[in-house]
Amino acid sequence: MKSSNNKQTRREFIKKNSVMGTGALLGLGAIKSLEAKTTATTIPALLGGHPVFPSSSWPSWPVWNPQTDEKQLLEVMRSGVWSRSHVVDEFEKQWAKTIGAKRCLTVVNGTNALNTSLAQLEIGWGDEVLVTPYTFIASVSSILFNGAIPIFVDVDPETFQMDPAKIEEKITPHTKAIIPVHILGLPCDMEEIMQIAKKHNLLVVEDACQGWLAEINHQKVGTFGTAGCFSFQNSKNMAIGEGGAIVSNDDTFMDRCYSYHNYGNPYGSVAGEIGAGTVMVGTKLRLTEYQAAIGLAQLKRLEEETQTRNVNASYLKENIKDIPGIEPYRLYDNVTRAAFHLFPFRYQKDMFKGLSREKFLEALRAEGVPCSGGYKELNKMPFLENAFNSRFFKKFYQKERLDYNRYTEENMCPLNEKLCNEQAVWISQNVLLSSKNDMENIAYAIEKIRKNADHIKQKN
Ligand SMILES: *Cc1c(COP(=O)(O)O)cnc(C)c1O
Repeated sequence: MKSSNNKQTRREFIKKNSVMGTGALLGLGAIKSLEAKTTATTIPALLGGHPVFPSSSWPSWPVWNPQTDEKQLLEVMRSGVWSRSHVVDEFEKQWAKTIGAKRCLTVVNGTNALNTSLAQLEIGWGDEVLVTPYTFIASVSSILFNGAIPIFVDVDPETFQMDPAKIEEKITPHTKAIIPVHILGLPCDMEEIMQIAKKHNLLVVEDACQGWLAEINHQKVGTFGTAGCFSFQNSKNMAIGEGGAIVSNDDTFMDRCYSYHNYGNPYGSVAGEIGAGTVMVGTKLRLTEYQAAIGLAQLKRLEEETQTRNVNASYLKENIKDIPGIEPYRLYDNVTRAAFHLFPFRYQKDMFKGLSREKFLEALRAEGVPCSGGYKELNKMPFLENAFNSRFFKKFYQKERLDYNRYTEENMCPLNEKLCNEQAVWISQNVLLSSKNDMENIAYAIEKIRKNADHIKQKN
C-alpha cells in the first residue's frame, strides 16, 4: 500500500504545483491562463479566488457504457423472465468466485443481507452484539431488528475502524456476536477480531457493505466470519441501484438464508418430509433478473476501478500526509488492499489557525473537491431509546437491561465522538477514479486553504 519511493517533500510539491506544474494544470483544464495561475490561484475560492477545480469534471457515478453494458439487460427485458432465475444464479456464482467464498445469495439490499444473516444464525432476543458506532445505520438497526441489543466498541481513530483492543472489555455473558464493519472500505483487523471471537465463542457477521474486493493478507473481507454482507446500492462502488449479497462457506446456513429469502420454501438442507409444505418461517427478498444483468455488467469493471482507487488513494495520501493538521487514514499492516468507498483523513483545526472543520469543508468544496464531514454519532440517536421503549423490548427484556441512562453511559465512545463532531473529512470515491494530477491538485487546494486559514476564518 505504501509508495515510499513516491515521497516528495512539501516544498518540492508546492514548487512543482506553482512553477513546473503549470503545464499539467493547464492540461487538466483547471487553470486557463498563466496570470490566473500566478495570482488568483493563491486566493481561496471561498474568498473570491479561482477554484482549483473550476468545473465539476469528476468522473460521474455510476459508470454505464451502453455499448458494453446493455446487451444482457436487453435480453432479460425481452425474455419476459424478470423474477429470479438463471441470470441471478450466474451473478451469485460470479460474486462468490470474486470474493473467494463457497456460496453467495443475493437479496434486495445490504440491510436485508445483515437482517437475514443475524436471523439465520439465531442472533436475537436477549443477545448483545458488538458493533462500531462509526458506521451506517443499517449495521446497528439489523441488531435491534432481530431483537438483540447493540453494544458499541469505540474506534481506533487512525484507522476509523472498531478497535480490537477495546472488544474484550465489552464482552458479557449475553454477548453472542461481533459485527465488524469495514467502514469507508478500509478493512478491520480481522485477524485480531477472529482470535477474540474464537476465544469467547462468538459468531462473526462481517458488514462488508463498503468492502468490495478489500483484502487482508490477500483474503477478501467478508470471508473471515461465518457470513459476509455486501450492498450494491446506487452510491456503492459496486452499483446496481439496489441489491445485496450474503457470502459464506457454511452450507447449512446458506440453505437457511435461501429458504428465508424465498417465503421459507424448502431449499437444500432445509427440506421437510415430502408433502409437509413450507418448513420454516420466511419472507421474500429476491433480486430480479434485470438487477443481476446490471450487476454482471458492473462486475466486469470492479477490479480495474478498485486498482485505480488504490493507486490514487495512496498517491493522494502521500501528497497530503506532510501538511500539518491533515492525518490521512492508516491501514492495518496485514491489509493488502482496501476498497476505498471514501478517502478519509482527520482534520486538526489547531494547525489551521482554529478554522472549524465545517468552514474547512466549505472552503474545500468551493475549490471544487467533493467532501463531507461524514457520520453523526449513532450511539446517541433516538432510535435506540425508542427501541428500548417499544412494547416488544419491554416484554422480552428484564427492566434492568433496559435502563437507558446506564446503557448510554456504558456505551460512550469518546474517540468516535471526536471523529464525528470535529475531525473526520471524507472525499468521495469517484474522485479516486480521476487522474494522479488531480490528486496533486487536491493537496494544492488544501495547502491553499491552510495558508489562508486566518482570512477564511474571518469570513462569515
Ligand atoms: C450501505 C450500507 C449498508 C446497507 O446497504 P443497503 O443496500 O443500502 O441496504 C449497510 N452497512 C453499511 C456499512 C453500508 O454502507
